[in-house]
Amino acid sequence: MTARSFTGLAAAPGLAFGAALVYHATPARLDASADPATERTRLIRALAETDATFAAHEAASRAAGQSESAAIFAAHRLLLNDPSLRERAIALVTELGQAAAEAIIAAAEEQALELERLGDAYLSARAADVRAVAVQVWRALTGSGGLGRRLVAPSIVVARDLDPADLAGAPRDLLRGIALAAGGITAHASIIARSLGIPAVVGLGDAILTAAASARTIALDGDQGLVTLDPPADDAARWRPRPCDRSARGATPRDPVTTRDGRRVRLLANVASPAEARDACAEGAEGIGLLRTEWLFLERPDLPDEEEQVALYQAVAAAMPDAPITVRTLDIGGDKRLPALPLPREDNPFLGSRGIRVCLSRPEIFLPQLRALLRARATHDIRLMLPMVTTVAEVRRTRALLDQARNQLVAAGRPCAPSIPLGVMIEVPAAALNAGHLAQEAAFFSLGTNDLTQYTLACDRGNHRLADLYQPLDPAVLRLIRMACEAAHQHGRPAGICGELSSDPQVTALLIGLGADELTCAPAALERVRAAITATDTRAARDLAERALAAEGPEQVRAMLRDTL
Ligand code: PEP
Ligand code: MG
Repeated sequence: MTARSFTGLAAAPGLAFGAALVYHATPARLDASADPATERTRLIRALAETDATFAAHEAASRAAGQSESAAIFAAHRLLLNDPSLRERAIALVTELGQAAAEAIIAAAEEQALELERLGDAYLSARAADVRAVAVQVWRALTGSGGLGRRLVAPSIVVARDLDPADLAGAPRDLLRGIALAAGGITAHASIIARSLGIPAVVGLGDAILTAAASARTIALDGDQGLVTLDPPADDAARWRPRPCDRSARGATPRDPVTTRDGRRVRLLANVASPAEARDACAEGAEGIGLLRTEWLFLERPDLPDEEEQVALYQAVAAAMPDAPITVRTLDIGGDKRLPALPLPREDNPFLGSRGIRVCLSRPEIFLPQLRALLRARATHDIRLMLPMVTTVAEVRRTRALLDQARNQLVAAGRPCAPSIPLGVMIEVPAAALNAGHLAQEAAFFSLGTNDLTQYTLACDRGNHRLADLYQPLDPAVLRLIRMACEAAHQHGRPAGICGELSSDPQVTALLIGLGADELTCAPAALERVRAAITATDTRAARDLAERALAAEGPEQVRAMLRDTL
Protein backbone atom coordinates (compact mmCIF):
# COMPACT_ATOMS: atom_id res chain seq x y z
CA MET A 1 0.00 0.00 0.00
CA THR A 2 1.31 3.48 -0.76
CA ALA A 3 0.56 6.32 1.60
CA ARG A 4 -1.65 9.11 0.26
CA SER A 5 -2.14 12.38 2.10
CA PHE A 6 -5.01 14.85 2.17
CA THR A 7 -5.03 18.30 3.70
CA GLY A 8 -8.12 19.87 5.25
CA LEU A 9 -9.08 22.20 8.08
CA ALA A 10 -7.69 21.39 11.53
CA ALA A 11 -10.96 21.05 13.49
CA ALA A 12 -9.99 19.27 16.72
CA PRO A 13 -6.41 18.85 17.95
CA GLY A 14 -4.53 15.63 18.53
CA LEU A 15 -3.00 12.69 16.69
CA ALA A 16 -4.85 9.50 15.94
CA PHE A 17 -4.38 6.22 14.16
CA GLY A 18 -6.86 3.46 13.37
CA ALA A 19 -8.62 1.27 10.86
CA ALA A 20 -10.21 3.12 7.95
CA LEU A 21 -13.99 3.22 8.24
CA VAL A 22 -15.97 5.01 5.54
CA TYR A 23 -19.38 5.83 6.94
CA HIS A 24 -22.44 6.87 4.93
CA ALA A 25 -25.18 8.02 7.30
CA THR A 26 -28.74 7.05 6.51
CA PRO A 27 -31.04 10.05 6.65
CA ALA A 28 -33.16 10.31 9.79
CA ARG A 29 -36.76 9.32 9.19
CA LEU A 30 -39.77 9.17 11.46
CA ASP A 31 -42.84 9.47 9.36
CA ALA A 32 -46.00 8.58 11.23
CA SER A 33 -48.12 9.04 8.14
CA ALA A 34 -46.33 6.41 6.06
CA ASP A 35 -48.56 3.55 4.94
CA PRO A 36 -48.65 0.53 7.31
CA ALA A 37 -47.39 -1.96 4.73
CA THR A 38 -44.25 0.09 4.07
CA GLU A 39 -43.71 0.65 7.78
CA ARG A 40 -44.08 -3.08 8.43
CA THR A 41 -41.41 -3.86 5.82
CA ARG A 42 -39.11 -1.23 7.33
CA LEU A 43 -39.64 -2.63 10.81
CA ILE A 44 -38.87 -6.21 9.75
CA ARG A 45 -35.76 -5.02 7.89
CA ALA A 46 -34.59 -2.99 10.91
CA LEU A 47 -35.07 -5.99 13.22
CA ALA A 48 -32.94 -8.15 10.89
CA GLU A 49 -30.30 -5.41 10.57
CA THR A 50 -30.10 -4.99 14.34
CA ASP A 51 -29.80 -8.74 14.81
CA ALA A 52 -26.92 -8.83 12.29
CA THR A 53 -25.19 -5.98 14.12
CA PHE A 54 -25.53 -7.72 17.50
CA ALA A 55 -24.15 -10.90 15.91
CA ALA A 56 -21.13 -8.98 14.50
CA HIS A 57 -20.45 -7.40 17.91
CA GLU A 58 -20.81 -10.77 19.61
CA ALA A 59 -18.29 -12.35 17.20
CA ALA A 60 -15.86 -9.41 17.52
CA SER A 61 -16.04 -9.56 21.34
CA ARG A 62 -15.42 -13.29 21.33
CA ALA A 63 -12.45 -12.88 18.96
CA ALA A 64 -11.00 -10.22 21.30
CA GLY A 65 -11.39 -12.58 24.29
CA GLN A 66 -14.10 -10.36 25.85
CA SER A 67 -16.43 -13.14 26.90
CA GLU A 68 -18.64 -10.94 29.11
CA SER A 69 -19.41 -8.54 26.26
CA ALA A 70 -20.04 -11.46 23.94
CA ALA A 71 -22.55 -12.89 26.43
CA ILE A 72 -24.37 -9.53 26.64
CA PHE A 73 -24.73 -9.33 22.87
CA ALA A 74 -25.94 -12.94 22.76
CA ALA A 75 -28.56 -12.13 25.43
CA HIS A 76 -29.66 -9.03 23.51
CA ARG A 77 -30.16 -11.17 20.42
CA LEU A 78 -32.46 -13.45 22.39
CA LEU A 79 -34.55 -10.52 23.59
CA LEU A 80 -34.67 -9.00 20.11
CA ASN A 81 -35.86 -12.27 18.60
CA ASP A 82 -38.52 -12.84 21.28
CA PRO A 83 -41.66 -13.42 19.17
CA SER A 84 -43.91 -11.53 21.61
CA LEU A 85 -41.89 -8.30 21.20
CA ARG A 86 -41.76 -8.55 17.41
CA GLU A 87 -45.42 -9.51 17.03
CA ARG A 88 -46.62 -6.72 19.29
CA ALA A 89 -44.51 -4.11 17.41
CA ILE A 90 -45.80 -5.36 14.05
CA ALA A 91 -49.39 -5.28 15.35
CA LEU A 92 -48.98 -1.67 16.49
CA VAL A 93 -47.90 -0.79 12.95
CA THR A 94 -50.46 -2.78 10.99
CA GLU A 95 -53.46 -2.45 13.31
CA LEU A 96 -52.95 0.96 14.90
CA GLY A 97 -51.05 2.65 12.05
CA GLN A 98 -48.07 3.62 14.24
CA ALA A 99 -44.74 4.49 12.62
CA ALA A 100 -42.26 1.61 12.87
CA ALA A 101 -39.88 3.59 15.09
CA GLU A 102 -42.66 4.48 17.52
CA ALA A 103 -44.04 0.95 17.53
CA ILE A 104 -40.83 -0.79 18.60
CA ILE A 105 -40.35 1.65 21.49
CA ALA A 106 -44.00 1.26 22.58
CA ALA A 107 -43.93 -2.56 22.36
CA ALA A 108 -40.71 -2.73 24.37
CA GLU A 109 -42.11 -0.33 26.97
CA GLU A 110 -45.18 -2.56 27.47
CA GLN A 111 -42.96 -5.61 27.89
CA ALA A 112 -40.54 -3.80 30.22
CA LEU A 113 -43.38 -2.56 32.44
CA GLU A 114 -44.74 -6.10 32.71
CA LEU A 115 -41.33 -7.39 33.80
CA GLU A 116 -40.99 -4.60 36.35
CA ARG A 117 -44.44 -5.30 37.76
CA LEU A 118 -43.29 -8.80 38.81
CA GLY A 119 -41.14 -7.15 41.49
CA ASP A 120 -38.13 -9.40 40.95
CA ALA A 121 -34.68 -7.72 40.82
CA TYR A 122 -33.41 -10.01 38.06
CA LEU A 123 -36.47 -9.44 35.86
CA SER A 124 -36.36 -5.69 36.49
CA ALA A 125 -32.81 -5.66 35.11
CA ARG A 126 -34.12 -7.49 32.02
CA ALA A 127 -36.62 -4.65 31.55
CA ALA A 128 -33.71 -2.24 31.02
CA ASP A 129 -32.23 -4.65 28.47
CA VAL A 130 -35.51 -4.85 26.55
CA ARG A 131 -35.61 -1.05 26.36
CA ALA A 132 -31.94 -0.91 25.24
CA VAL A 133 -32.58 -3.45 22.50
CA ALA A 134 -35.58 -1.45 21.25
CA VAL A 135 -33.48 1.72 21.11
CA GLN A 136 -31.05 -0.06 18.77
CA VAL A 137 -33.92 -0.99 16.43
CA TRP A 138 -35.23 2.58 16.71
CA ARG A 139 -31.79 3.83 15.68
CA ALA A 140 -31.74 1.53 12.67
CA LEU A 141 -35.11 3.01 11.67
CA THR A 142 -34.34 6.68 12.24
CA GLY A 143 -30.75 6.60 11.04
CA SER A 144 -29.65 8.05 14.36
CA GLY A 145 -26.53 6.84 16.10
CA GLY A 146 -25.78 4.50 13.18
CA LEU A 147 -22.08 5.16 13.51
CA GLY A 148 -21.98 3.46 16.90
CA ARG A 149 -23.29 0.28 15.31
CA ARG A 150 -20.64 0.30 12.58
CA LEU A 151 -17.67 0.72 14.91
CA VAL A 152 -16.22 -2.62 15.96
CA ALA A 153 -12.49 -1.75 16.07
CA PRO A 154 -10.50 1.42 16.90
CA SER A 155 -11.11 3.47 13.74
CA ILE A 156 -10.70 6.75 11.97
CA VAL A 157 -14.15 7.50 10.58
CA VAL A 158 -14.30 9.06 7.15
CA ALA A 159 -17.66 10.56 6.22
CA ARG A 160 -19.13 13.31 4.12
CA ASP A 161 -20.52 14.93 7.28
CA LEU A 162 -21.64 13.63 10.67
CA ASP A 163 -24.71 14.29 12.72
CA PRO A 164 -24.05 15.41 16.30
CA ALA A 165 -26.24 12.45 17.39
CA ASP A 166 -23.90 10.05 15.60
CA LEU A 167 -20.90 11.50 17.34
CA ALA A 168 -22.47 11.59 20.77
CA GLY A 169 -23.53 7.96 20.50
CA ALA A 170 -20.28 6.49 19.22
CA PRO A 171 -18.08 4.57 21.69
CA ARG A 172 -15.09 6.79 22.55
CA ASP A 173 -12.62 3.90 22.75
CA LEU A 174 -13.38 2.94 19.15
CA LEU A 175 -13.86 6.37 17.59
CA ARG A 176 -10.22 7.48 17.43
CA GLY A 177 -10.47 10.26 14.87
CA ILE A 178 -12.77 11.94 12.37
CA ALA A 179 -12.04 12.92 8.76
CA LEU A 180 -14.87 14.74 7.02
CA ALA A 181 -15.21 15.60 3.35
CA ALA A 182 -17.44 18.56 4.23
CA GLY A 183 -17.77 20.76 7.30
CA GLY A 184 -16.17 23.88 8.70
CA ILE A 185 -14.37 24.40 11.97
CA THR A 186 -17.37 25.98 13.64
CA ALA A 187 -19.84 23.36 12.33
CA HIS A 188 -21.44 21.45 15.17
CA ALA A 189 -19.67 18.18 14.35
CA SER A 190 -16.35 20.02 14.84
CA ILE A 191 -17.45 21.65 18.09
CA ILE A 192 -18.55 18.28 19.49
CA ALA A 193 -15.32 16.60 18.36
CA ARG A 194 -13.34 19.27 20.24
CA SER A 195 -15.47 18.94 23.33
CA LEU A 196 -15.14 15.13 23.32
CA GLY A 197 -11.39 15.39 22.65
CA ILE A 198 -11.57 13.43 19.37
CA PRO A 199 -8.95 14.61 16.82
CA ALA A 200 -10.70 15.80 13.66
CA VAL A 201 -9.92 17.16 10.22
CA VAL A 202 -12.77 18.56 8.13
CA GLY A 203 -13.27 20.08 4.68
CA LEU A 204 -11.12 17.43 2.99
CA GLY A 205 -13.25 17.32 -0.16
CA ASP A 206 -15.19 14.41 -1.62
CA ALA A 207 -12.05 12.70 -2.99
CA ILE A 208 -11.28 11.42 0.52
CA LEU A 209 -14.45 9.30 0.46
CA THR A 210 -13.43 7.29 -2.59
CA ALA A 211 -9.76 7.12 -1.68
CA ALA A 212 -10.45 5.94 1.90
CA ALA A 213 -12.77 3.18 0.64
CA SER A 214 -9.72 1.17 -0.45
CA ALA A 215 -7.51 2.13 2.53
CA ARG A 216 -6.81 -0.22 5.44
CA THR A 217 -5.47 2.23 8.00
CA ILE A 218 -5.49 6.00 8.48
CA ALA A 219 -3.28 8.39 10.45
CA LEU A 220 -4.77 11.75 11.33
CA ASP A 221 -3.14 14.95 12.59
CA GLY A 222 -5.81 17.26 13.99
CA ASP A 223 -3.27 20.03 14.69
CA GLN A 224 -2.00 20.30 11.12
CA GLY A 225 -5.21 19.28 9.33
CA LEU A 226 -3.52 16.28 7.73
CA VAL A 227 -4.91 12.83 6.90
CA THR A 228 -2.67 10.02 5.62
CA LEU A 229 -4.15 6.85 4.17
CA ASP A 230 -2.15 3.65 4.75
CA PRO A 231 0.84 5.30 6.44
CA PRO A 232 4.06 3.22 6.51
CA ALA A 233 3.99 0.77 9.42
CA ASP A 234 7.37 1.97 10.77
CA ASP A 235 5.85 5.47 11.10
CA ALA A 236 3.20 4.28 13.59
CA ALA A 237 4.93 5.68 16.71
CA ARG A 238 4.53 9.17 15.26
CA TRP A 239 0.74 8.94 15.45
CA ARG A 240 0.49 7.79 19.03
CA PRO A 241 -1.54 10.36 20.97
CA ARG A 242 0.58 12.56 23.22
CA PRO A 243 -0.17 12.09 26.90
CA CYS A 244 -2.56 14.71 28.19
CA ASP A 245 -1.07 16.69 31.06
CA ARG A 246 -4.35 18.32 32.14
CA SER A 247 -5.10 16.15 35.14
CA ALA A 248 -1.49 16.28 36.32
CA ARG A 249 -1.65 20.04 36.61
CA GLY A 250 -4.29 20.03 39.36
CA ALA A 251 -7.11 22.46 39.86
CA THR A 252 -6.75 26.11 38.94
CA PRO A 253 -8.26 28.41 41.55
CA ARG A 254 -11.39 30.20 40.41
CA ASP A 255 -9.92 33.67 40.99
CA PRO A 256 -11.56 36.70 39.40
CA VAL A 257 -9.73 37.58 36.21
CA THR A 258 -8.71 41.15 35.38
CA THR A 259 -6.72 42.79 32.63
CA ARG A 260 -3.24 44.17 33.40
CA ASP A 261 -4.79 47.54 34.24
CA GLY A 262 -7.50 46.06 36.46
CA ARG A 263 -10.59 45.77 34.23
CA ARG A 264 -12.70 42.79 35.25
CA VAL A 265 -13.45 40.27 32.48
CA ARG A 266 -15.46 37.21 33.47
CA LEU A 267 -14.00 33.95 32.23
CA LEU A 268 -16.71 31.37 31.65
CA ALA A 269 -16.92 27.99 29.95
CA ASN A 270 -19.12 26.48 27.28
CA VAL A 271 -20.12 22.92 28.07
CA ALA A 272 -22.54 20.25 27.00
CA SER A 273 -22.60 17.88 29.98
CA PRO A 274 -22.02 17.67 33.75
CA ALA A 275 -18.66 15.98 33.05
CA GLU A 276 -17.51 18.93 30.97
CA ALA A 277 -18.71 21.31 33.67
CA ARG A 278 -16.44 19.45 36.12
CA ASP A 279 -13.52 19.89 33.68
CA ALA A 280 -14.32 23.57 33.35
CA CYS A 281 -14.45 23.93 37.13
CA ALA A 282 -11.05 22.25 37.45
CA GLU A 283 -9.71 24.69 34.85
CA GLY A 284 -10.89 27.61 36.96
CA ALA A 285 -13.94 28.83 35.01
CA GLU A 286 -16.00 31.36 36.97
CA GLY A 287 -19.20 29.81 35.72
CA ILE A 288 -20.89 28.37 32.66
CA GLY A 289 -21.56 30.92 29.92
CA LEU A 290 -23.22 28.46 27.55
CA LEU A 291 -24.83 25.12 28.33
CA ARG A 292 -26.01 23.75 24.98
CA THR A 293 -29.07 21.87 26.23
CA GLU A 294 -29.84 20.19 22.92
CA TRP A 295 -26.62 18.18 23.26
CA LEU A 296 -27.93 16.68 26.48
CA PHE A 297 -30.84 15.27 24.49
CA LEU A 298 -29.00 14.00 21.41
CA GLU A 299 -28.72 10.34 22.13
CA ARG A 300 -32.29 9.40 22.91
CA PRO A 301 -35.56 8.56 21.21
CA ASP A 302 -37.61 10.89 23.41
CA LEU A 303 -37.12 14.30 24.98
CA PRO A 304 -36.42 14.21 28.71
CA ASP A 305 -39.46 15.24 30.71
CA GLU A 306 -39.50 18.11 33.19
CA GLU A 307 -38.25 15.99 36.13
CA GLU A 308 -35.31 14.66 34.17
CA GLN A 309 -34.43 18.12 32.93
CA VAL A 310 -34.44 19.52 36.48
CA ALA A 311 -32.02 16.73 37.44
CA LEU A 312 -29.77 17.46 34.44
CA TYR A 313 -29.54 21.19 35.13
CA GLN A 314 -28.95 20.53 38.82
CA ALA A 315 -26.19 18.05 37.92
CA VAL A 316 -24.42 20.66 35.78
CA ALA A 317 -24.81 23.27 38.53
CA ALA A 318 -23.54 20.83 41.17
CA ALA A 319 -20.44 20.24 39.04
CA MET A 320 -19.62 23.93 39.45
CA PRO A 321 -20.87 24.94 42.89
CA ASP A 322 -21.72 28.57 43.71
CA ALA A 323 -21.20 29.72 40.14
CA PRO A 324 -23.63 31.17 37.59
CA ILE A 325 -24.86 28.64 35.04
CA THR A 326 -26.20 30.05 31.77
CA VAL A 327 -28.54 27.55 30.20
CA ARG A 328 -29.38 28.02 26.56
CA THR A 329 -32.86 26.84 25.69
CA LEU A 330 -33.22 24.15 23.06
CA ASP A 331 -31.42 25.24 19.87
CA ILE A 332 -32.31 22.88 17.07
CA GLY A 333 -32.72 23.31 13.35
CA GLY A 334 -29.98 24.23 10.86
CA ASP A 335 -27.36 21.48 11.12
CA LYS A 336 -28.73 20.23 14.46
CA ARG A 337 -31.43 17.61 14.33
CA LEU A 338 -32.69 15.86 17.42
CA PRO A 339 -33.74 12.26 16.83
CA ALA A 340 -36.50 12.83 19.37
CA LEU A 341 -37.88 15.85 17.56
CA PRO A 342 -37.97 15.43 13.79
CA LEU A 343 -38.60 18.76 12.06
CA PRO A 344 -40.23 19.17 8.67
CA ARG A 345 -37.81 19.33 5.75
CA GLU A 346 -36.93 22.87 4.67
CA ASP A 347 -35.09 24.16 1.62
CA ASN A 348 -32.96 26.54 3.72
CA PRO A 349 -32.83 25.08 7.23
CA PHE A 350 -30.34 27.68 8.53
CA LEU A 351 -32.84 30.38 7.54
CA GLY A 352 -35.84 28.39 8.65
CA SER A 353 -37.21 27.03 11.91
CA ARG A 354 -34.21 27.25 14.23
CA GLY A 355 -33.59 28.02 17.88
CA ILE A 356 -36.20 30.20 19.54
CA ARG A 357 -38.45 29.98 16.47
CA VAL A 358 -38.93 26.24 17.03
CA CYS A 359 -39.52 26.63 20.78
CA LEU A 360 -42.11 29.38 20.36
CA SER A 361 -44.00 27.30 17.84
CA ARG A 362 -43.95 24.22 20.14
CA PRO A 363 -45.03 25.33 23.65
CA GLU A 364 -45.58 21.69 24.60
CA ILE A 365 -41.79 21.30 24.33
CA PHE A 366 -40.76 24.77 25.51
CA LEU A 367 -42.93 24.99 28.65
CA PRO A 368 -41.46 21.87 30.34
CA GLN A 369 -37.96 23.27 29.75
CA LEU A 370 -38.94 26.66 31.20
CA ARG A 371 -40.56 24.99 34.21
CA ALA A 372 -37.47 22.84 34.74
CA LEU A 373 -35.24 25.93 34.65
CA LEU A 374 -37.42 27.84 37.12
CA ARG A 375 -37.31 24.84 39.45
CA ALA A 376 -33.54 24.43 39.13
CA ARG A 377 -33.12 28.14 39.87
CA ALA A 378 -34.83 27.65 43.21
CA THR A 379 -31.55 26.12 44.42
CA HIS A 380 -28.87 27.24 41.92
CA ASP A 381 -27.78 30.44 40.18
CA ILE A 382 -29.29 29.55 36.80
CA ARG A 383 -29.62 32.11 33.98
CA LEU A 384 -31.64 31.51 30.86
CA MET A 385 -30.53 32.41 27.34
CA LEU A 386 -32.41 32.35 24.04
CA PRO A 387 -30.74 31.30 20.77
CA MET A 388 -31.27 32.81 17.33
CA VAL A 389 -33.30 35.79 18.54
CA THR A 390 -34.27 38.10 15.67
CA THR A 391 -36.96 40.36 17.12
CA VAL A 392 -38.01 41.95 20.42
CA ALA A 393 -41.38 40.21 20.05
CA GLU A 394 -39.68 36.81 20.44
CA VAL A 395 -38.28 37.86 23.82
CA ARG A 396 -41.67 39.16 24.96
CA ARG A 397 -43.42 35.98 23.89
CA THR A 398 -40.86 33.96 25.84
CA ARG A 399 -41.44 36.14 28.89
CA ALA A 400 -45.17 35.45 28.63
CA LEU A 401 -44.47 31.71 28.48
CA LEU A 402 -42.16 32.05 31.48
CA ASP A 403 -45.03 33.67 33.43
CA GLN A 404 -47.28 30.83 32.37
CA ALA A 405 -44.68 28.23 33.42
CA ARG A 406 -44.27 29.87 36.82
CA ASN A 407 -48.04 30.06 37.38
CA GLN A 408 -48.33 26.36 36.55
CA LEU A 409 -45.62 25.52 39.09
CA VAL A 410 -47.14 27.71 41.80
CA ALA A 411 -50.57 26.15 41.18
CA ALA A 412 -49.02 22.69 41.53
CA GLY A 413 -47.28 23.71 44.76
CA ARG A 414 -43.80 23.12 43.31
CA PRO A 415 -40.89 25.14 44.73
CA CYS A 416 -39.56 27.45 42.02
CA ALA A 417 -37.76 30.76 41.60
CA PRO A 418 -40.02 33.83 41.32
CA SER A 419 -37.99 35.05 38.33
CA ILE A 420 -34.96 34.17 36.23
CA PRO A 421 -32.50 36.43 34.36
CA LEU A 422 -33.44 36.21 30.69
CA GLY A 423 -30.64 36.88 28.23
CA VAL A 424 -30.49 36.79 24.46
CA MET A 425 -27.89 35.52 22.07
CA ILE A 426 -26.88 37.98 19.41
CA GLU A 427 -26.22 35.80 16.40
CA VAL A 428 -28.45 37.30 13.74
CA PRO A 429 -27.36 40.65 12.23
CA ALA A 430 -30.86 42.08 12.81
CA ALA A 431 -30.42 41.48 16.55
CA ALA A 432 -27.13 43.38 16.57
CA LEU A 433 -28.61 46.22 14.51
CA ASN A 434 -31.61 46.40 16.87
CA ALA A 435 -29.57 45.75 19.99
CA GLY A 436 -30.76 48.96 21.69
CA HIS A 437 -34.34 47.68 21.80
CA LEU A 438 -33.31 44.14 22.73
CA ALA A 439 -31.15 45.44 25.59
CA GLN A 440 -34.27 46.95 27.19
CA GLU A 441 -35.88 43.50 27.25
CA ALA A 442 -32.87 41.32 28.05
CA ALA A 443 -30.84 40.93 31.25
CA PHE A 444 -27.66 40.23 29.28
CA PHE A 445 -26.29 39.64 25.80
CA SER A 446 -24.17 36.73 24.68
CA LEU A 447 -22.78 37.03 21.18
CA GLY A 448 -22.79 33.79 19.20
CA THR A 449 -20.05 34.66 16.72
CA ASN A 450 -20.29 31.28 14.96
CA ASP A 451 -23.72 32.11 13.63
CA LEU A 452 -23.23 35.87 13.54
CA THR A 453 -20.40 35.27 11.08
CA GLN A 454 -22.40 32.97 8.84
CA TYR A 455 -25.42 35.26 8.73
CA THR A 456 -23.40 38.47 8.26
CA LEU A 457 -21.27 37.07 5.46
CA ALA A 458 -24.10 34.97 3.94
CA CYS A 459 -21.75 32.03 4.26
CA ASP A 460 -22.74 28.54 5.53
CA ARG A 461 -20.54 27.75 8.56
CA GLY A 462 -20.43 24.07 7.58
CA ASN A 463 -19.48 24.51 3.93
CA HIS A 464 -15.76 23.86 3.52
CA ARG A 465 -15.78 25.38 0.04
CA LEU A 466 -16.50 28.73 1.68
CA ALA A 467 -13.85 28.36 4.39
CA ASP A 468 -11.91 31.35 2.98
CA LEU A 469 -14.98 33.54 3.20
CA TYR A 470 -16.14 32.33 6.64
CA GLN A 471 -13.99 34.69 8.71
CA PRO A 472 -15.22 35.76 12.17
CA LEU A 473 -12.56 38.48 12.06
CA ASP A 474 -14.13 40.17 9.06
CA PRO A 475 -14.52 43.87 10.02
CA ALA A 476 -18.24 43.60 9.15
CA VAL A 477 -18.67 41.02 11.94
CA LEU A 478 -16.49 43.04 14.31
CA ARG A 479 -18.66 46.10 13.72
CA LEU A 480 -21.77 44.17 14.74
CA ILE A 481 -19.98 42.88 17.85
CA ARG A 482 -19.08 46.41 18.85
CA MET A 483 -22.58 47.70 18.10
CA ALA A 484 -24.15 45.01 20.34
CA CYS A 485 -21.66 45.59 23.19
CA GLU A 486 -22.25 49.36 23.10
CA ALA A 487 -26.02 48.92 23.15
CA ALA A 488 -25.76 46.53 26.10
CA HIS A 489 -23.59 48.99 28.05
CA GLN A 490 -25.89 51.92 27.33
CA HIS A 491 -28.62 49.98 29.13
CA GLY A 492 -26.38 48.73 31.92
CA ARG A 493 -26.31 45.14 30.66
CA PRO A 494 -23.23 42.93 30.40
CA ALA A 495 -22.18 41.62 26.98
CA GLY A 496 -20.29 38.37 26.53
CA ILE A 497 -18.94 36.41 23.60
CA CYS A 498 -19.75 32.70 23.48
CA GLY A 499 -18.83 31.69 19.91
CA GLU A 500 -15.63 29.80 19.13
CA LEU A 501 -13.82 33.10 18.57
CA SER A 502 -13.54 33.63 22.33
CA SER A 503 -11.48 30.42 22.71
CA ASP A 504 -8.70 31.93 20.58
CA PRO A 505 -6.20 33.70 22.89
CA GLN A 506 -4.85 35.69 19.93
CA VAL A 507 -8.21 37.44 19.68
CA THR A 508 -8.79 38.07 23.41
CA ALA A 509 -7.45 41.65 23.47
CA LEU A 510 -9.48 42.57 20.39
CA LEU A 511 -12.71 41.26 21.95
CA ILE A 512 -12.03 43.19 25.15
CA GLY A 513 -11.32 46.28 23.06
CA LEU A 514 -14.65 45.83 21.28
CA GLY A 515 -16.40 45.84 24.67
CA ALA A 516 -16.75 42.20 25.80
CA ASP A 517 -17.33 41.85 29.55
CA GLU A 518 -17.38 38.04 29.53
CA LEU A 519 -15.59 35.42 27.46
CA THR A 520 -17.10 31.95 27.26
CA CYS A 521 -14.50 29.42 26.11
CA ALA A 522 -14.06 25.70 25.58
CA PRO A 523 -12.72 24.19 28.86
CA ALA A 524 -9.41 23.32 27.18
CA ALA A 525 -8.86 26.96 26.17
CA LEU A 526 -9.53 28.52 29.59
CA GLU A 527 -5.95 28.61 30.78
CA ARG A 528 -4.58 30.30 27.63
CA VAL A 529 -7.44 32.80 27.47
CA ARG A 530 -6.94 33.65 31.16
CA ALA A 531 -3.28 34.38 30.43
CA ALA A 532 -4.30 36.52 27.44
CA ILE A 533 -6.76 38.56 29.55
CA THR A 534 -4.21 39.26 32.27
CA ALA A 535 -1.68 40.35 29.62
CA THR A 536 -4.14 42.81 28.04
CA ASP A 537 -4.03 46.55 28.57
CA THR A 538 -7.51 48.01 28.07
CA ARG A 539 -6.41 51.21 26.39
CA ALA A 540 -4.18 49.33 23.91
CA ALA A 541 -7.06 46.88 23.32
CA ARG A 542 -9.41 49.74 22.43
CA ASP A 543 -6.86 51.17 20.06
CA LEU A 544 -6.45 47.72 18.47
CA ALA A 545 -10.24 47.45 18.10
CA GLU A 546 -10.43 50.88 16.37
CA ARG A 547 -7.78 49.83 13.87
CA ALA A 548 -9.42 46.46 13.27
CA LEU A 549 -12.80 48.09 12.64
CA ALA A 550 -11.21 50.33 10.03
CA ALA A 551 -9.40 47.45 8.33
CA GLU A 552 -10.26 46.41 4.80
CA GLY A 553 -10.64 42.69 5.50
CA PRO A 554 -9.94 39.80 7.90
CA GLU A 555 -6.37 39.26 6.63
CA GLN A 556 -5.42 42.78 7.72
CA VAL A 557 -7.03 42.16 11.12
CA ARG A 558 -5.07 38.89 11.53
CA ALA A 559 -1.86 40.71 10.59
CA MET A 560 -2.60 43.36 13.25
CA LEU A 561 -3.14 40.67 15.88
CA ARG A 562 0.14 38.98 14.92
CA ASP A 563 2.00 42.31 15.11
CA THR A 564 0.49 43.11 18.49
CA LEU A 565 1.57 39.77 19.92
C1 PEP B 1 -22.77 30.56 18.06
O1 PEP B 1 -23.52 30.54 17.07
O2 PEP B 1 -21.73 31.26 18.13
C2 PEP B 1 -23.07 29.71 19.23
C3 PEP B 1 -22.38 29.80 20.34
O3 PEP B 1 -24.08 28.79 19.09
P1 PEP B 1 -23.92 27.40 18.28
O4 PEP B 1 -22.48 27.25 17.88
O5 PEP B 1 -24.37 26.32 19.18
O6 PEP B 1 -24.82 27.62 17.12
MG1 MG C 1 -25.48 29.65 17.31
